[in-house]
Amino acid sequence: MSIKIQDIVVAMHSKFEGIQPDMEIDNVSIDSRSLQNNTGTLFFALTGQNRNGHQYINDLIHKGVVNFVVNHIPTGAVGKANFFIVDNTLKALQDFAIYYRKLFSFPVIAITGSSGKTVVKEWLNYLLSPDFNIIRSPKSYNSQVGVPLSIIGINQKHNLGIFEAGISIPGEMEHLEPIIRPEIGVLTNIGTAHEEGFTSHQEKIREKLKLFKNAKLLIYQKNGDVAKELDPNLKTFTWAFNESADVIMNTIKDTSSTNLTVIRPEEMFAVTLPFTDDASIENAINSLMVLLHLNYKVDIIKERMAGLYPIEMRLQVKNGSNGCTLIDDSYSSDYQSLKIALDFLEQHKTHEKKTIILSDVFQSGFETEELYDKVEKMLSGHKISQVIGIGDTISKQLAHLPNFYPYSTTQEFLTHYRANAFENETVLIKGARNFRFDEIVVFLEEKTHQTVLEINLNAITHNLNFYKSRLKPETKIMVMVKAFGYGSGSYEIAKALSHQKVDYLGVAVADEGIALRNAGITIPIIVMNPERSAFAAMAAYNLEPEVYSAKELRAFITVAQQKNLSNYPIHIKLDTGMHRLGFMEDQLAELIELLHNNNLVSVKSIFSHLSSSDVTDYRDFTLGQIANFEKWSSHLMKELEINPIRHILNTSGIYNFPEAQYNMVRLGIGLYGVGNDEEEYKCLANVGTLKTVILQIKDVDPGESIGYSRRFIAKEKIRIATLPIGYADGIRRAWGNEKGYVTINNKKAVITGTISMDMMMVDVTDIDCKEGDSAVIFGKNPSVVEMAQVLGTIPYEILTSISQRVKRIFYKE
Ligand SMILES: *Cc1c(COP(=O)(O)O)cnc(C)c1O
Repeated sequence: MSIKIQDIVVAMHSKFEGIQPDMEIDNVSIDSRSLQNNTGTLFFALTGQNRNGHQYINDLIHKGVVNFVVNHIPTGAVGKANFFIVDNTLKALQDFAIYYRKLFSFPVIAITGSSGKTVVKEWLNYLLSPDFNIIRSPKSYNSQVGVPLSIIGINQKHNLGIFEAGISIPGEMEHLEPIIRPEIGVLTNIGTAHEEGFTSHQEKIREKLKLFKNAKLLIYQKNGDVAKELDPNLKTFTWAFNESADVIMNTIKDTSSTNLTVIRPEEMFAVTLPFTDDASIENAINSLMVLLHLNYKVDIIKERMAGLYPIEMRLQVKNGSNGCTLIDDSYSSDYQSLKIALDFLEQHKTHEKKTIILSDVFQSGFETEELYDKVEKMLSGHKISQVIGIGDTISKQLAHLPNFYPYSTTQEFLTHYRANAFENETVLIKGARNFRFDEIVVFLEEKTHQTVLEINLNAITHNLNFYKSRLKPETKIMVMVKAFGYGSGSYEIAKALSHQKVDYLGVAVADEGIALRNAGITIPIIVMNPERSAFAAMAAYNLEPEVYSAKELRAFITVAQQKNLSNYPIHIKLDTGMHRLGFMEDQLAELIELLHNNNLVSVKSIFSHLSSSDVTDYRDFTLGQIANFEKWSSHLMKELEINPIRHILNTSGIYNFPEAQYNMVRLGIGLYGVGNDEEEYKCLANVGTLKTVILQIKDVDPGESIGYSRRFIAKEKIRIATLPIGYADGIRRAWGNEKGYVTINNKKAVITGTISMDMMMVDVTDIDCKEGDSAVIFGKNPSVVEMAQVLGTIPYEILTSISQRVKRIFYKE
C-alpha cells in the first residue's frame, strides 16, 4: 500500500491539520499495541463503549507514529503530528476502505447469512487457491471494523477476493456493501429464527440482501422467503434438495461421509463429502455452487470437494507439557492470519519466552523475498525468542536469523525433537493445513483425561462490556476472580482482562493474589479476607488488604512498621447490613482514631457489600444499606479529610441499582455469564462449557439395571453411553437418576442411574452417536442456571465446584 495523504483527506471527508502533508501511508492500524513500521502507519482512533483510541495518541507520537484520524486533537499533541479530523472515526475507516477498494478491479465473492459464513469463505479459499491469488477476510473478520480491515489487506498481486459480512442490526449492511463491492454473492443458511436486532425474519433477509445490491449473481439455497425480497434484476443460481432449482442435490449419508449427487440439465455427477452433518453439507454445497458457476471441470470438483476439512476458526490456548502454554493455530499459515496470531500470542503469553513454530507462509500476494522480509519484521517486532521454521521456503528465507531452527518437514521436526526441548515458554504453533501441525500439537500437549471446561474469552469480554454499557464511562471496575475465577481460571481471565481496562482484581485469600502476581499480573489486587499470617507476604507481593476491624488494622499497621512501608493502600469495609465482615456504625470512631495522622497506610477505598441486590422483595432493605453506606462513608471522608474510591455494587447491584455505582463496582458472576435476573441473563454470553467424550456405548435389555444400587431398571431395550465424568469432577450426585441430562449431538441424553465418582451413564437410545463423540455436561444446554434450579442451589456453587483435575481450555473466536 502506498497512498498519498492528499488523496485520502478528501476520501475520508476530513479536515487536515498537520506538519508533513507530503507523506505516504503504507499501512493502517486501530490497535496501539500491535503497530509496525510506525512512520507510514495511519492510526484510526476508534471510540466505543470500552475503548478510546485518542488516549494512546501522545504515546504513539513518542513511538514515531505521525498520522492519526481523530475526532479532535488531544491536548498536548497539537503541532506534533498529522491529524485528519472527522466526525466519526469508524466511518472514516470505512470511507478509507471504500477508496482503497476502488483502486482494484478484480472479481470479489461476498458471503453473508446467519451461519456458515466463515466456513464457506475458508472452504472457497481452499478450493480456489490453486488457481487464484486470493485475498480473504482473516478469521471471522466480518464486522463494521473487520470488513474494512480485511479490504485494506489487498495488494497488486491479488486477483480474487473472498470476504464475509456479518450484521446485527438494520442499516449496517449499507456501510459494508460499498467496501466489499462484490460481483458474486453467496447467501449461506439464513435460519428461521427471529434474530435479536431485527423486527422480523423478512427484515433480516432484506438487510442481508443489501450486500448484493450491485452484484452480478447470487448463489443460494432456494427459499421462498428470500425470493420474495430479491431484486428482480439480480441473476440467481439456486440449488435445492430434491425439488426444482437450477441445481438439484441429493444426499446419501454413510457412517463418516456423504455421497452427494449433483443434478443439472446438462450433467449429473456424484461427489464424496468427508462428513455427515447437515450444516457442513450445506456449506459444502454453497461452495460447490461457486465452482460450478466458475465452470470447473467435474474431475477437479470431485477431487477438491473430497479434500474439504473441518475449519478450526479459533486460536486455542492449551496446556503443554513441561510448564509450556501452547497456542494452537495449526490450520492456516497466510500472512494476514500470522499477524492476528502474533497479537494473540502477545495477549495470552504466560511466560517471557516466546517460541513460534511456523510453516511456509502462503497466499500473500507478495513475491517470496518481500513476503519473508515482512514476516521477519513482524517476528522481530513481537520479540519472538526462538523461531522454528518448517518447510523448504521458510528454511531458506529466514536462515540468517539468530535463533532460527530450520526443518524441511514436520516429520523431520518430530523425529529430531527432544521431549524436553521446550520448557516454561509459550509456543505458538502455526502452520498451513498440509503441514499437519496438529501432530505437533498432540506431541507437545499435556496428557490428561478428556473432560475439559472450555472457557470462551470472547464471551468474557462481551459480558464485561454489557455491564460497562450500563455504567458511566468514568466508573472504575473491579473484577472478582476469587475461587479460581469462579472456577473458570483466574490467571487466564485476569490476563484476558488486562487489555480491557479493568481497574482492580478481587481475590478471597492472599495465596490467590500471590499466584496471580507470580504469573505476571500487574493490575492492583484486593484481598477480601486477608489472614494475619499472610500480611508480610501481601506487602511483598503488592496485594492490598480489605480491612474490616480495628484489631485487624492494628495488626496490619504493626507489619507496616516492621517493613518500613508508607502509605500502603488499604480498603475499608463497612458492614451496612450483610453482617459478615466490616465496621459497624459504632466502630467508626475507633477507626478514625487509628487512621488519623497515620501515614503507614492510606485509605484507597471505602466499600460495603449488598446482601440482597438480586431480591426484588428486599429492594427497600438494599436502599437502606446504600443509605447507611452513604452516611458512614461520608462521615469517614470528612473526619479523615480523604477522598477515596467508594464502591458497593456487585453484579446484581449493577443491574438493579446503577444509581449507587459511586466510583467503582465489583463485577463477579455476571462476567462468567450468569445473571440473577432473567432479562439480564438474556444479555449475557455463555462462558464455560464443560465437555467430555463418550467412552463406551452399550445396549441394555429390559429388566437389566444400570449403575450402583440398581437405581435404574430398564423397562425396554435401551442404549446407554458411559461418560468419564462423575461427582469427583464436581457434578453433584443429585443431578443423576433422571433428574439431569447432558447434550450429545444437539440432543438431550438423560442421566440414568446414580452418578459414580468418575463416571456417569446417559440414555442415548434415540440419539445418533458413537464412541468418541462429545457430550456437553453444561454450557448453553443445560445451563448452570437450569442445573442450579433443579438442584436447589445457585450457579455460583456449581461453577466453583468443578474440580481442579478438569482441564481448562481457553479460546477466542
Ligand atoms: C464475591 C463478591 C462480589 C461479587 O459478587 P457477584 O454477585 O458475583 O457479582 C462483590 N463483592 C464482594 C465483597 C464479594 O465477596
